[in-house]
Parts: sequence; C-alpha cells; structure tokens
Amino acid sequence: MTHPAQQVPAIHHRRVGDIIVTSVSDGFLDGSMAVIQNIAPEDATRILREAHRPLPRRTAVNTFLIRAGGRIALVDTGCGAAMAATGGKMFENLSAAGVAPAAIDTVLLTHMHPDHSNGLSDAAGQPFFAKAELAMHQAEYAFWHDDAAMGRADETSRQRNFMAGRTQVAPYQARLKLFAGGEVFPGVTAMHLPGHTPGHTGYLITSGGESLLIWGDIIHLPEIQIQHPEVTMTFDIDPVQAAATRRRVFDQVASEGQAVAGMHMHFPGLLHLARRGDGYQLLHDGWYPAM
Ligand SMILES: [Zn+2]
Repeated sequence: MTHPAQQVPAIHHRRVGDIIVTSVSDGFLDGSMAVIQNIAPEDATRILREAHRPLPRRTAVNTFLIRAGGRIALVDTGCGAAMAATGGKMFENLSAAGVAPAAIDTVLLTHMHPDHSNGLSDAAGQPFFAKAELAMHQAEYAFWHDDAAMGRADETSRQRNFMAGRTQVAPYQARLKLFAGGEVFPGVTAMHLPGHTPGHTGYLITSGGESLLIWGDIIHLPEIQIQHPEVTMTFDIDPVQAAATRRRVFDQVASEGQAVAGMHMHFPGLLHLARRGDGYQLLHDGWYPAM
C-alpha cells in the first residue's frame, strides 16, 4: 500500500445566490516573524504556538474564481514562480477546477503585492491570461507606478514590489480597467479598503439575497490579528490606516453577519466573524459535498 504524498487538488466551491465562488489555493509562504509589528515578538510566537500553528510563520495564499452570468473572473493570481517552492500552485489547481487561463475574462486584483500579482505574467513578459481584462483600484496602479514613491522605498521593496509589479502588469496595458468603486463584474462591487496598500480593495459578491465579501489582506495572521487588530505588518504601506480599516471591517462584518473570504485565511479561506465580549471569534465555514 502506498501512502499519499500530497493533498487532493485545493479547490472549494461555494454558492452565493446564482454565482459560484471557487477558492483556488496558491499554496503557502513560510517567513520571518520579524515582519510582525506592534506586538512583542514573544507574544506573537506564543499565540501561534498555542494555536498549534507552524513556526516561525506560515501564511496561506488563496485566490478566488467567480462564475457569474456565463463569465469568469479571477480575484488575484498568487505568487507565480518567483517567490517560493511552496507557492505558485494556482495554475495546477485552476486546471483541476477545469478552468483554462484563456477562459478567464477578467482578473480583479485586491492589490499589487507580489503574492497577489506575480501570477499575471511569465518571466519572458508574456501574459498568462490571454483574453482577460485586468482591473484594480486607480490608487493602487498609481502608487506602484509613482517614481517618487519608489524612490522612498527600500531596495527590497523597490525590486520585489515596485519593479516586479510593473513588469507583471505591463502586458495588460491595452486591457487595463482602473476603477474608483462601483460594480466591476456582474454581481461584484469594489470596496476600497486602504491602508495595507493605497488602493487595497475588497470585492463584495451579491446574488439572490446572499453575499460574500472577499476582503483581501485585511488579515495576514488570523490567530494574532483577530485578537489584536492593532498588529500590523512591515509591508503595510500605511500601518495606522491598515489597522483602522481592519477594525472597521471587523465591526461591519460581525454586525451584519457578513460572510467573508480572505487571501491569507486558512484554505479555503471562508469564514464569519462573531463578536465575543470585547473581541471577535473566527468561525470557519463547514464543508458540504453539494451546494
Ligand atoms: Zn498578501
């Protein structure tokens, strides 16, 4: 008897009214604890250990397919080939979901960080999504194409975020759609959630009286930031605003009972937040064989 060496394909379907949302894993990234700000390092380590999470830090990377009205959108594109061997799995999982990149007609970015945009184009500058329009918030595109902002960044961010992001987006220049808000795909409304990056955007999917908010990077480390919304990451462009936006979104989704999907929540990244005392409890969705 041979033992399995890997998981089944990491795809998970969820119905939102007439729309099907599919979580498509891009894998995960392991990284340093030093990026976690506004908490004592020993406290961050203790919280992850007590939550039985791998140390030093393991972050899931999720993307989401939206099938609405005969069209297919992809929200974010994962790490591509450049970041880590544990990432860049989106394409094999898309394939397992039976979706060819050429069938995707819209790519919606939550923001232009490399774990979200590196899957747009290959190393030779060829777009993976031959027919897709690329849509993102106008403030997001403007920031990463601002030479003055790039001049203020450190060398790592200059290379990894500004230069890599510009290279990834460039092949889509002729089919770029920059928005300020509103409906950006059938049943999908853009919600500007700035702080992590200037144009960081959530996507609210609504159909048949149901809804799901893809909240992007409102959380990077669930066990830490749900207890401590004030905890930020070194790669938050405006950490004060990022924390304020996180508190506002927590309050909103808990008050409304809003279903949520997150890029860095544990796969398949589907949850609710419930208010408990002064804080919140994370409630992961269950798994069901049919929708
Ligand atoms: Zn991210």
